[in-house]
Amino acid sequence: MILRLLFVSTSVGPLGSGMGGGVELTINNLAHSLLLRGHQVQVVAPSGSKLFEVPVINIEGQLQVSAQHQSRGTPIELPGNSVLSNMWAYAHQVQANFDLIVNFAYDWLPLYLTPFFRTPVAHLISMGSLTDAMDQVIQRALVQFPQCIAVHTYSQAQTFAFAEQCHILGNGFDLSLYDFCAEPAAGLAWLGRIAPEKALEDAVKAAEQSGLPLQVLGHLQDQDYFDQTLSQFPGAQVDYRGFLPTDQMQRILRQCQALLVTPRWVEAFGNVVIEALACGVPVIAYRRGGPAEIVRDGETGWLVEPDSVEGLVDAIANLSKIDRAACRQQAEQDYSLTALGDRAEQWFAKVLQQA
Ligand code: UDP
Repeated sequence: MILRLLFVSTSVGPLGSGMGGGVELTINNLAHSLLLRGHQVQVVAPSGSKLFEVPVINIEGQLQVSAQHQSRGTPIELPGNSVLSNMWAYAHQVQANFDLIVNFAYDWLPLYLTPFFRTPVAHLISMGSLTDAMDQVIQRALVQFPQCIAVHTYSQAQTFAFAEQCHILGNGFDLSLYDFCAEPAAGLAWLGRIAPEKALEDAVKAAEQSGLPLQVLGHLQDQDYFDQTLSQFPGAQVDYRGFLPTDQMQRILRQCQALLVTPRWVEAFGNVVIEALACGVPVIAYRRGGPAEIVRDGETGWLVEPDSVEGLVDAIANLSKIDRAACRQQAEQDYSLTALGDRAEQWFAKVLQQA
Protein backbone atom coordinates (compact mmCIF):
# COMPACT_ATOMS: atom_id res chain seq x y z
CA MET A 1 0.00 0.00 0.00
CA ILE A 2 1.31 3.44 -0.94
CA LEU A 3 1.44 5.70 2.12
CA ARG A 4 1.10 9.45 2.36
CA LEU A 5 3.58 10.37 5.09
CA LEU A 6 4.15 13.61 6.96
CA PHE A 7 7.57 13.86 8.65
CA VAL A 8 7.88 16.45 11.42
CA SER A 9 11.51 17.37 12.02
CA THR A 10 13.60 18.12 15.09
CA SER A 11 12.89 21.52 16.65
CA VAL A 12 16.49 22.34 17.69
CA GLY A 13 17.71 23.63 14.33
CA PRO A 14 17.04 23.85 10.60
CA LEU A 15 17.84 20.77 8.51
CA GLY A 16 21.27 21.17 6.92
CA SER A 17 22.68 23.25 9.79
CA GLY A 18 24.17 20.37 11.81
CA MET A 19 22.41 21.62 14.94
CA GLY A 20 20.08 18.63 14.84
CA GLY A 21 22.98 16.13 14.87
CA GLY A 22 22.36 12.73 13.31
CA VAL A 23 18.59 13.31 13.12
CA GLU A 24 19.10 15.52 10.07
CA LEU A 25 20.65 12.75 7.98
CA THR A 26 18.19 10.21 9.38
CA ILE A 27 15.22 12.24 8.12
CA ASN A 28 16.83 12.63 4.72
CA ASN A 29 17.67 8.93 4.44
CA LEU A 30 14.33 7.65 5.68
CA ALA A 31 12.48 9.99 3.31
CA HIS A 32 14.72 8.89 0.44
CA SER A 33 14.27 5.17 1.19
CA LEU A 34 10.46 5.53 1.26
CA LEU A 35 10.26 7.69 -1.88
CA LEU A 36 12.19 4.96 -3.72
CA ARG A 37 9.32 2.59 -2.83
CA GLY A 38 6.70 4.94 -4.23
CA HIS A 39 5.44 6.38 -0.93
CA GLN A 40 4.73 10.11 -0.72
CA VAL A 41 6.73 12.06 1.84
CA GLN A 42 6.28 15.65 2.97
CA VAL A 43 8.75 17.09 5.49
CA VAL A 44 7.97 19.94 7.90
CA ALA A 45 10.99 21.62 9.56
CA PRO A 46 12.21 24.90 11.11
CA SER A 47 12.73 27.73 8.60
CA GLY A 48 16.07 27.72 6.78
CA SER A 49 15.88 23.95 6.29
CA LYS A 50 17.20 22.16 3.20
CA LEU A 51 17.28 18.46 2.40
CA PHE A 52 19.23 16.82 -0.41
CA GLU A 53 16.28 15.31 -2.21
CA VAL A 54 12.99 16.12 -0.54
CA PRO A 55 11.04 19.41 -0.58
CA VAL A 56 10.54 20.89 2.89
CA ILE A 57 7.75 23.06 4.33
CA ASN A 58 9.61 25.67 6.39
CA ILE A 59 7.97 26.84 9.63
CA GLU A 60 8.91 30.00 11.53
CA GLY A 61 9.44 30.21 15.26
CA GLN A 62 11.96 30.00 18.07
CA LEU A 63 14.10 26.91 18.27
CA GLN A 64 13.87 24.44 21.13
CA VAL A 65 16.83 24.10 23.51
CA SER A 66 18.51 20.76 22.96
CA ALA A 67 17.74 18.08 25.60
CA GLN A 68 21.27 16.64 25.70
CA HIS A 69 22.50 18.85 28.48
CA GLN A 70 19.48 18.67 30.80
CA SER A 71 19.37 16.83 34.11
CA ARG A 72 16.76 14.17 34.93
CA GLY A 73 14.43 16.51 36.78
CA THR A 74 14.49 19.37 34.26
CA PRO A 75 10.92 20.53 33.56
CA ILE A 76 9.59 20.93 30.04
CA GLU A 77 10.23 24.37 28.58
CA LEU A 78 8.80 26.02 25.50
CA PRO A 79 9.88 29.45 24.23
CA GLY A 80 7.29 32.03 23.12
CA ASN A 81 6.36 31.55 19.44
CA SER A 82 7.86 28.06 19.61
CA VAL A 83 8.74 26.43 16.29
CA LEU A 84 7.88 23.09 17.88
CA SER A 85 4.31 24.11 18.62
CA ASN A 86 4.04 25.89 15.25
CA MET A 87 5.12 22.73 13.39
CA TRP A 88 2.59 20.64 15.31
CA ALA A 89 -0.18 23.20 14.75
CA TYR A 90 0.59 22.87 11.03
CA ALA A 91 0.56 19.07 11.25
CA HIS A 92 -2.80 19.21 13.02
CA GLN A 93 -4.20 21.43 10.31
CA VAL A 94 -3.12 19.21 7.39
CA GLN A 95 -3.46 15.78 9.05
CA ALA A 96 -6.40 14.69 6.88
CA ASN A 97 -4.08 14.66 3.83
CA PHE A 98 -1.84 11.97 5.36
CA ASP A 99 -2.05 8.31 6.42
CA LEU A 100 0.67 8.64 9.05
CA ILE A 101 2.64 11.38 10.79
CA VAL A 102 6.21 10.59 11.89
CA ASN A 103 7.80 12.65 14.64
CA PHE A 104 11.62 13.00 14.78
CA ALA A 105 11.85 15.50 17.66
CA TYR A 106 13.08 14.37 21.09
CA ASP A 107 10.38 16.57 22.62
CA TRP A 108 7.51 16.23 25.04
CA LEU A 109 4.84 18.08 23.04
CA PRO A 110 4.36 15.69 20.08
CA LEU A 111 4.18 12.70 22.42
CA TYR A 112 1.63 14.44 24.58
CA LEU A 113 -0.42 15.41 21.51
CA THR A 114 -0.53 11.89 20.03
CA PRO A 115 -4.07 10.98 21.27
CA PHE A 116 -5.45 14.33 20.11
CA PHE A 117 -4.69 13.60 16.44
CA ARG A 118 -7.09 11.73 14.15
CA THR A 119 -4.19 10.61 11.91
CA PRO A 120 -1.89 8.11 13.68
CA VAL A 121 1.42 9.53 14.95
CA ALA A 122 4.61 7.42 15.16
CA HIS A 123 7.74 8.61 16.98
CA LEU A 124 11.35 7.85 16.14
CA ILE A 125 13.19 8.51 19.38
CA SER A 126 16.73 9.68 18.62
CA MET A 127 18.41 9.56 22.05
CA GLY A 128 18.42 7.35 25.13
CA SER A 129 16.63 8.20 28.38
CA LEU A 130 17.60 11.72 29.53
CA THR A 131 14.77 13.21 31.60
CA ASP A 132 11.92 11.84 33.72
CA ALA A 133 9.35 14.01 31.97
CA MET A 134 10.27 12.57 28.56
CA ASP A 135 10.26 8.99 29.83
CA GLN A 136 6.82 9.49 31.35
CA VAL A 137 5.25 11.04 28.27
CA ILE A 138 6.66 8.29 25.99
CA GLN A 139 5.31 5.65 28.36
CA ARG A 140 1.93 7.35 28.36
CA ALA A 141 1.79 7.34 24.54
CA LEU A 142 2.69 3.62 24.57
CA VAL A 143 -0.24 2.75 26.84
CA GLN A 144 -2.71 3.93 24.22
CA PHE A 145 -0.61 3.20 21.12
CA PRO A 146 1.66 0.23 21.87
CA GLN A 147 3.35 0.27 18.43
CA CYS A 148 4.04 3.98 18.14
CA ILE A 149 7.68 4.10 19.34
CA ALA A 150 10.84 3.17 17.43
CA VAL A 151 14.48 3.64 18.42
CA HIS A 152 17.74 3.01 16.58
CA THR A 153 19.43 0.24 18.61
CA TYR A 154 18.86 -2.27 21.43
CA SER A 155 21.38 -0.41 23.61
CA GLN A 156 19.33 2.75 23.24
CA ALA A 157 16.09 0.88 24.02
CA GLN A 158 17.69 -0.57 27.18
CA THR A 159 18.03 2.92 28.68
CA PHE A 160 14.20 3.03 28.93
CA ALA A 161 11.91 1.04 31.26
CA PHE A 162 9.77 0.21 28.20
CA ALA A 163 12.63 -1.29 26.14
CA GLU A 164 10.58 -4.32 25.10
CA GLN A 165 7.94 -2.16 23.43
CA CYS A 166 10.33 -0.29 21.13
CA HIS A 167 10.70 -1.16 17.46
CA ILE A 168 14.37 -1.25 16.46
CA LEU A 169 14.78 0.69 13.24
CA GLY A 170 18.58 0.85 12.96
CA ASN A 171 19.39 3.29 10.20
CA GLY A 172 20.18 3.24 6.49
CA PHE A 173 22.29 5.26 4.07
CA ASP A 174 22.59 6.04 0.37
CA LEU A 175 25.83 4.12 0.05
CA SER A 176 26.45 5.44 -3.47
CA LEU A 177 27.37 8.77 -1.83
CA TYR A 178 30.35 7.20 -0.01
CA ASP A 179 33.40 6.08 -2.02
CA PHE A 180 35.52 3.15 -0.93
CA CYS A 181 39.19 3.99 -0.32
CA ALA A 182 41.58 1.03 -0.08
CA GLU A 183 44.77 3.00 0.64
CA PRO A 184 44.44 5.66 3.33
CA ALA A 185 46.90 8.43 4.14
CA ALA A 186 48.48 8.57 7.61
CA GLY A 187 45.91 10.02 10.00
CA LEU A 188 42.70 9.54 11.95
CA ALA A 189 39.22 11.08 11.87
CA TRP A 190 36.70 12.20 14.48
CA LEU A 191 33.21 13.30 13.39
CA GLY A 192 30.21 14.72 15.16
CA ARG A 193 28.77 17.59 17.14
CA ILE A 194 31.57 19.11 19.20
CA ALA A 195 30.05 18.87 22.68
CA PRO A 196 31.17 17.35 26.01
CA GLU A 197 29.07 14.15 25.76
CA LYS A 198 31.04 13.25 22.61
CA ALA A 199 34.42 13.42 24.47
CA LEU A 200 36.56 14.72 21.62
CA GLU A 201 39.39 15.14 24.16
CA ASP A 202 39.92 11.36 24.33
CA ALA A 203 40.38 11.17 20.56
CA VAL A 204 42.79 14.14 20.57
CA LYS A 205 44.85 12.57 23.34
CA ALA A 206 44.97 9.18 21.60
CA ALA A 207 46.00 10.80 18.29
CA GLU A 208 48.72 12.78 20.08
CA GLN A 209 50.07 9.65 21.78
CA SER A 210 50.01 7.75 18.48
CA GLY A 211 51.83 10.58 16.69
CA LEU A 212 49.08 10.84 14.05
CA PRO A 213 47.15 13.86 12.78
CA LEU A 214 43.41 14.01 13.58
CA GLN A 215 40.83 15.40 11.15
CA VAL A 216 37.87 16.80 13.09
CA LEU A 217 34.58 17.47 11.28
CA GLY A 218 31.24 18.51 12.65
CA HIS A 219 28.99 21.21 14.02
CA LEU A 220 30.76 23.29 16.68
CA GLN A 221 28.09 23.29 19.38
CA ASP A 222 30.30 24.32 22.30
CA GLN A 223 33.19 26.67 21.47
CA ASP A 224 34.53 26.88 25.08
CA TYR A 225 34.69 23.11 25.28
CA PHE A 226 36.53 22.94 21.95
CA ASP A 227 39.08 25.63 22.96
CA GLN A 228 39.68 23.87 26.25
CA THR A 229 40.22 20.52 24.52
CA LEU A 230 42.78 21.97 22.11
CA SER A 231 44.68 23.82 24.86
CA GLN A 232 44.90 20.60 26.91
CA PHE A 233 46.90 18.85 24.17
CA PRO A 234 49.16 21.42 22.52
CA GLY A 235 51.28 18.69 20.87
CA ALA A 236 48.32 17.17 19.00
CA GLN A 237 47.97 17.81 15.26
CA VAL A 238 44.26 18.66 15.06
CA ASP A 239 42.83 19.88 11.78
CA TYR A 240 39.27 21.22 12.26
CA ARG A 241 37.52 21.23 8.87
CA GLY A 242 34.11 22.61 9.94
CA PHE A 243 30.67 21.09 9.29
CA LEU A 244 30.70 19.89 5.69
CA PRO A 245 28.05 18.47 3.34
CA THR A 246 28.17 14.66 3.00
CA ASP A 247 30.11 14.66 -0.28
CA GLN A 248 32.93 16.87 1.01
CA MET A 249 32.92 15.14 4.38
CA GLN A 250 33.37 11.67 2.90
CA ARG A 251 36.26 12.83 0.67
CA ILE A 252 38.24 13.59 3.83
CA LEU A 253 36.92 10.70 5.91
CA ARG A 254 37.67 7.99 3.35
CA GLN A 255 41.39 8.82 3.33
CA CYS A 256 41.75 8.25 7.07
CA GLN A 257 43.13 5.12 8.70
CA ALA A 258 40.28 4.94 11.21
CA LEU A 259 37.37 6.83 12.73
CA LEU A 260 37.57 7.30 16.51
CA VAL A 261 34.16 7.22 18.29
CA THR A 262 34.55 8.19 21.93
CA PRO A 263 31.17 9.13 23.45
CA ARG A 264 30.72 9.43 27.22
CA TRP A 265 26.97 8.92 26.88
CA VAL A 266 24.96 6.04 25.44
CA GLU A 267 25.04 7.06 21.80
CA ALA A 268 21.68 6.02 20.29
CA PHE A 269 23.18 4.92 17.00
CA GLY A 270 26.15 6.82 15.61
CA ASN A 271 25.47 7.66 11.96
CA VAL A 272 29.13 8.48 11.54
CA VAL A 273 30.05 4.85 12.28
CA ILE A 274 28.23 3.65 9.15
CA GLU A 275 29.48 6.57 7.07
CA ALA A 276 33.04 5.53 7.92
CA LEU A 277 32.42 1.83 7.23
CA ALA A 278 30.83 2.77 3.90
CA CYS A 279 34.14 4.39 2.88
CA GLY A 280 36.09 1.31 4.03
CA VAL A 281 37.30 3.12 7.14
CA PRO A 282 37.58 0.92 10.28
CA VAL A 283 35.93 2.26 13.42
CA ILE A 284 37.56 2.33 16.85
CA ALA A 285 34.79 2.88 19.39
CA TYR A 286 34.15 2.59 23.09
CA ARG A 287 32.18 -0.54 23.95
CA ARG A 288 29.08 1.50 24.83
CA GLY A 289 25.75 2.33 23.16
CA GLY A 290 24.92 2.01 19.47
CA PRO A 291 28.50 1.93 18.08
CA ALA A 292 29.25 -1.17 20.20
CA GLU A 293 26.29 -2.91 18.55
CA ILE A 294 27.48 -2.01 15.06
CA VAL A 295 31.28 -2.47 15.02
CA ARG A 296 32.42 -6.11 14.64
CA ASP A 297 35.38 -6.28 16.97
CA GLY A 298 38.54 -7.34 15.13
CA GLU A 299 36.72 -7.43 11.78
CA THR A 300 35.42 -3.95 10.96
CA GLY A 301 37.22 -2.10 13.75
CA TRP A 302 38.03 -2.41 17.43
CA LEU A 303 35.83 -2.04 20.50
CA VAL A 304 37.68 -0.55 23.43
CA GLU A 305 36.97 -0.38 27.16
CA PRO A 306 34.87 2.80 27.68
CA ASP A 307 36.88 5.93 28.54
CA SER A 308 40.25 4.17 28.07
CA VAL A 309 42.58 6.33 25.96
CA GLU A 310 45.19 3.60 26.36
CA GLY A 311 42.72 1.20 24.74
CA LEU A 312 42.29 3.60 21.81
CA VAL A 313 46.06 3.84 21.35
CA ASP A 314 46.43 0.03 21.35
CA ALA A 315 43.63 -0.30 18.82
CA ILE A 316 45.25 2.32 16.57
CA ALA A 317 48.46 0.25 16.66
CA ASN A 318 46.47 -2.78 15.47
CA LEU A 319 44.67 -1.18 12.53
CA SER A 320 46.61 -3.16 9.93
CA LYS A 321 44.69 -6.28 11.05
CA ILE A 322 41.42 -4.84 9.76
CA ASP A 323 40.41 -5.43 6.14
CA ARG A 324 38.91 -2.21 4.75
CA ALA A 325 36.82 -4.18 2.22
CA ALA A 326 35.06 -5.96 5.11
CA CYS A 327 34.04 -2.53 6.46
CA ARG A 328 32.33 -1.50 3.24
CA GLN A 329 30.70 -4.93 3.03
CA GLN A 330 29.13 -4.58 6.47
CA ALA A 331 27.63 -1.20 5.55
CA GLU A 332 26.17 -2.69 2.35
CA GLN A 333 24.73 -5.71 4.10
CA ASP A 334 22.91 -4.08 7.03
CA TYR A 335 22.67 -0.35 6.48
CA SER A 336 21.50 0.30 2.91
CA LEU A 337 18.42 2.39 2.10
CA THR A 338 16.70 -0.87 1.11
CA ALA A 339 17.33 -2.41 4.53
CA LEU A 340 16.05 0.77 6.23
CA GLY A 341 12.96 0.94 3.98
CA ASP A 342 12.08 -2.70 4.80
CA ARG A 343 12.30 -2.07 8.54
CA ALA A 344 10.35 1.21 8.32
CA GLU A 345 7.53 -0.34 6.30
CA GLN A 346 7.20 -3.13 8.87
CA TRP A 347 7.01 -0.58 11.70
CA PHE A 348 4.48 1.62 9.90
CA ALA A 349 2.27 -1.40 9.13
CA LYS A 350 2.14 -2.21 12.85
CA VAL A 351 1.32 1.40 13.76
CA LEU A 352 -1.49 1.51 11.20
CA GLN A 353 -2.90 -1.87 12.30
CA GLN A 354 -3.30 -0.59 15.83
CA ALA A 355 -5.04 2.65 14.70
N1 UDP B 1 28.09 15.44 9.82
C1 UDP B 1 28.06 16.13 8.62
N2 UDP B 1 29.15 16.88 8.28
C2 UDP B 1 30.27 16.92 9.02
C3 UDP B 1 30.31 16.18 10.22
C4 UDP B 1 29.20 15.44 10.60
O1 UDP B 1 27.07 16.12 7.89
O2 UDP B 1 31.21 17.61 8.64
C5 UDP B 1 26.88 14.70 10.22
C6 UDP B 1 27.02 13.20 10.10
O3 UDP B 1 26.69 12.79 8.80
C7 UDP B 1 26.02 12.67 11.12
C8 UDP B 1 25.87 13.82 12.11
O4 UDP B 1 26.63 14.91 11.59
O5 UDP B 1 24.77 12.39 10.52
C9 UDP B 1 26.32 13.42 13.49
O6 UDP B 1 25.42 12.47 13.94
P1 UDP B 1 25.69 11.30 14.97
O7 UDP B 1 24.56 10.30 14.82
O8 UDP B 1 27.06 10.75 14.80
O9 UDP B 1 25.61 12.00 16.39
P2 UDP B 1 24.59 13.05 17.08
O10 UDP B 1 25.08 14.42 16.70
O11 UDP B 1 23.22 12.78 16.56
O12 UDP B 1 24.70 12.80 18.56
